[in-house]
Amino acid sequence: MSAPAESKLYLDLCQQISDARTAFKTSHQDQIEIPDQEIQRRAEEQEPLFDVQRLTAERELLGEFLNDLLAVLKANEFFSREEVDKLVASKEKMDPVELIRPLINGDLPSFKAYAAQLGLETDLVSFVGLNLSQAVAELYADKVKQKVDQESWYKGSCPVCGSYPAIEKLRRDDGKRILRCGLCGTEWHFKRIMCPFCSNEDHNSLRFFVVEEETPTEKSAFRVDVCDKCKIYIKTLDERKLPKSEKPDLYLENLNTIYLDILAQKDGYESPTYWMLAPAEGLIV
Ligand SMILES: [Zn+2]
Ligand SMILES: [Zn+2]
Repeated sequence: MSAPAESKLYLDLCQQISDARTAFKTSHQDQIEIPDQEIQRRAEEQEPLFDVQRLTAERELLGEFLNDLLAVLKANEFFSREEVDKLVASKEKMDPVELIRPLINGDLPSFKAYAAQLGLETDLVSFVGLNLSQAVAELYADKVKQKVDQESWYKGSCPVCGSYPAIEKLRRDDGKRILRCGLCGTEWHFKRIMCPFCSNEDHNSLRFFVVEEETPTEKSAFRVDVCDKCKIYIKTLDERKLPKSEKPDLYLENLNTIYLDILAQKDGYESPTYWMLAPAEGLIV
């Protein structure tokens, strides 16, 4: 399959999963219970509002979204039919909690081992694990994110789940810098001149590059911010450069701009959330 055709199939798949997630959230939002006292205590202590380990207690919800996910995978051709059929046939053997645990703990080698134990391709199983984690994390986030105090949270990690940002934007109305969590999708304000990953504020070692286009397109609204102290990059969408009618979805924009990740990595920068983007290029690093 040619690269552009493969990339289109991948984006279609992610769009369909994003729609399935929205439907899942709508029908399950009342099933999440987090005591108010716990949220309040965590907020006072400047901790993320929920502990991601909680997701491992949601076997039933994870199992339900696993069914939705398998239905989407069966209807899409990005992953080979044979592999998807094998995955579906292994469903009874799979424990949805084991599918997300290594991702939540950042223990990718043990994830690889679990995929091997199931006799399945690591790329496909990790894609499923990632999407399961994101769906249930978003369900939690929707429950608590209105309780985030944007004025008192200054960290580069997510105020709701504590994960790293996957992408950011400069907001159209006021140019404010907004980070978007790679796991639960929460967006939060952050200082303009500071690295979210190492808190470096030295403007001499913080810079960005843009990729010039021959004609102005949506892509030219993107830039890549890099920190020369920790050597980490993050992609930034400057909404002010987009037509007012456009309402970009940062989750899909992130998937649609992998060419920028490749450029940044060629320049020697890394991203702690890149593995969430591209199974075809090695989801497991
Ligand atoms: Zn989060
Ligand atoms: Zn840094």
